[in-house]
Amino acid sequence: MHGNPQRNLKDHTRWCYTGQAPIQEVADYIPQLAKFSPDLWAVSLCTVDGQRHTVGDSKVPFCLQSCVKPLKYAVAVHDHGTEYVHSFIGKEPSGLRFNKLFLDEDDKPHNPMVNAGAIVCTSLIKQGEGNAEKFDYIMNFLKNMAGNEYVGFSNATFQSERESGDRNFAIGYYLKEKKCFPEGTDMTSVLDLYFQLCSIEVTCESASVMAATLANGGICPITGERVLSPEAVRNTLSLMHSCGMYDFSGQFAFHVGLPAKSGVAGGILLVVPNVMGIVCWSPPLDKLGNSVRGIQFCTDLVEHFNFHNYDNLRHFAKKHDPRREGGDQRVKSVINLLFAAYTGDVSALRRFALSSMDMEQKDYDSRTALHVAAAEGHSEVVRFLLEACRVNPVPRDRWGNTPMDEALHFGHHDVVVILQQYNDKYSPPVDAGDTGRAEKSLDSLL
Ligand code: GLU
Repeated sequence: MHGNPQRNLKDHTRWCYTGQAPIQEVADYIPQLAKFSPDLWAVSLCTVDGQRHTVGDSKVPFCLQSCVKPLKYAVAVHDHGTEYVHSFIGKEPSGLRFNKLFLDEDDKPHNPMVNAGAIVCTSLIKQGEGNAEKFDYIMNFLKNMAGNEYVGFSNATFQSERESGDRNFAIGYYLKEKKCFPEGTDMTSVLDLYFQLCSIEVTCESASVMAATLANGGICPITGERVLSPEAVRNTLSLMHSCGMYDFSGQFAFHVGLPAKSGVAGGILLVVPNVMGIVCWSPPLDKLGNSVRGIQFCTDLVEHFNFHNYDNLRHFAKKHDPRREGGDQRVKSVINLLFAAYTGDVSALRRFALSSMDMEQKDYDSRTALHVAAAEGHSEVVRFLLEACRVNPVPRDRWGNTPMDEALHFGHHDVVVILQQYNDKYSPPVDAGDTGRAEKSLDSLL
């Protein structure tokens, strides 16, 4: 244990680990990880339209470690397609520790997010080339994903990983025995490359751009360059969702509901598809190997925002939705609404109302659906807007006219009666300024 990492850490046992306090230690199986202060803490985000925000130690380099697993899997699928890659690797959570020496019923690694799967995945990229070319090739992909921001390499970490990698060597030999690699694979050089990829460095800021590239269907939001195929990105996000957080993946999918991948250096790559990439980094880990602060951040994030995959985007009033409607969307919505009122399309209006559309929206002349329906004499629509949607019965357009004025002006007596009856039934006495004109004309018409 280094220092006192307990401070500033909120308890997140409330929904995990059956009440056991999470262990909060910086990984120390190699000295390069053990040297990190437990107080380091950063969060960076990059949206799919390139907006950035960052707090804390976001410029300090750290190793991707297992966070590289989804990225190299994405490269493998980008190059070879889903079918080929999954003829070597499964798609199921293993239910076992990430570095278990274990294969599925078909003698394939369970998925590319555990070590066995990631080692096989490493063997699929640029087969037939030397490790130098392979490393450069993958580095190039990672730099493109990061919009050319910081991507480095820690040689010391690589050396230590290799020296202490007995388990990974054991997995490698087991994979070789079970013929899990493509023909002609040199298993020990695959392991070398595997250790090198674990030792690739990023900062929270640069990695948030990588995550944003995944959020953006494979196009880097900073450079606009397509880096990965949509197929590769979709697969990657699916597997991150089900297998990305070690033995906490099921709980994470349940509580946070977003694709993520953590690494033993304390990083968590979190993707809000079509919205943004987020990276948290804090070295103290819980007993399952996930960053304690990172998990807390992800949980708090979906408590505030409706980012959980199964949060309802329309009706979840308690949570914030930062995907605010853009101007375009609002214009489309008011046009759809007013056209439905114009054509008397009650079923379209019912659909809009059910999808929480604001049925009182006004166009640039401050005209509402009720104005339009009244002017066109669509009594069913008028009834629906008043009775079912409870819209304001007396909105005024830019000329000061109400729906009643419209109905009177165009001689739609049935609409006049509906509006009058509704007014009598529900409205408290309305001040003369609102309906005075209409009421006077109504008397003369009846
Ligand atoms: N280098 C570690 C290993 O392969 C990766 C650990 C991790 O981040 O899960 O065992």
